[in-house]
Amino acid sequence: MEHRLAAELALLKKKKLWRSPALIERSSGNLLLIEGRLFCNFSSNDYLGLSGHPALQEAAHAACSSFGYGATASRLICGNTKEHQLLEEELASLKQTEAALLFSSGFAAAMGAISSLMQRGDVIILDKLVHASLIDGARASKALVRVFKHHDLTQLEDHLRWARSTFPSGEILIITESVFSMDGDVAPLQEIVILKEKYGALLFVDEAHAIGIRGPSGNRMGGVIGELGLASRIDIQMGTLSKAVGTSGGYLCASRTIVDYLLHRARSFIYTTAAPPSLIAAARASIGIINSSEGEALAVQLWNNIEQLASSLSQQQPESAILPLILGDEEKALVAARCLREAGYFVPAIRYPTVAKNKARLRITMTATHTSEEISQFTQEVKQLSL
Ligand SMILES: *Cc1c(COP(=O)(O)O)cnc(C)c1O
Repeated sequence: MEHRLAAELALLKKKKLWRSPALIERSSGNLLLIEGRLFCNFSSNDYLGLSGHPALQEAAHAACSSFGYGATASRLICGNTKEHQLLEEELASLKQTEAALLFSSGFAAAMGAISSLMQRGDVIILDKLVHASLIDGARASKALVRVFKHHDLTQLEDHLRWARSTFPSGEILIITESVFSMDGDVAPLQEIVILKEKYGALLFVDEAHAIGIRGPSGNRMGGVIGELGLASRIDIQMGTLSKAVGTSGGYLCASRTIVDYLLHRARSFIYTTAAPPSLIAAARASIGIINSSEGEALAVQLWNNIEQLASSLSQQQPESAILPLILGDEEKALVAARCLREAGYFVPAIRYPTVAKNKARLRITMTATHTSEEISQFTQEVKQLSL
């Protein structure tokens, strides 16, 4: 075993795929302290800067006093607190679904839901670029899995036609993200909904990078689905509390029947300790801020920052807070990340297998806490990279 692992690790080094996470000694807003030096962070998913908001700390503290720190058992034993229940009710209401279910992470939500809902004789159809948690959930189910090229509606329809004729009585589940995590672009949800209805399929949409940023007026938790008014036509809305919400944990919003079924069957829900009540209380406080005038001001600031960054990097029409600078070669992305690091900016290179081979990139993310000056100085540095 040792020998095999060492050989594989050596190969990773050779292919420039070795990873060693930076050690964060302290963080505040968009500043990171690493090895005694301050860096301006352009890689965080804390898009609204809520992770450090005092209201989250206060809510967590209060819940700690009421419940202790740990949840002490799974939801089905004695870990099901009032905080969990209230957050599920709030999420269902914000997503316009009958019910919601919390998981300890977005990864656990995707894994547990997809693998338990889909059975032998069913077909899962995934966009090629969906997140690993969705792919693993699909693989862990006994359903057949088909993949369509990113946003390719023609190929999606080909798969749907094939699945419907091959498995006339099977369930077909289409899985996509609304905002894609490594590209920042948005799926053509309206067109996908029309196709799924035409073929009697179900639709699962992961809004991990949309909530908090996009939504209908007054409800930025509604995501792209809410913005397009599609809630009633999408079967499962998934998301995470670990990005714009600034905390941790995953959720699923769906019909009462689906949620009841998952509570009985999703192994990543059943066989794990409930999330700490303090964490859930912090998430509730954060969601309260997102949908307040304070949150609206943060989102407006964020979108101003996104537009400033995109226009100075000559990228057009940004659809999210994620702006990838695709460099291709792994080594090239590493060199670019290193140059920016030397200049005081933290933007790690994203490489295979997170993205395809030769699609290595700098995944630049924007937050509401960046100042206009930080953005213009950062883009100066990016432009000086010899790419
Ligand atoms: C981050 C992410 C997840 C996983 O969420 P966690 O709460 O971090 O486990 C799932 N889907 C997408 C698209 C993500 O970006």
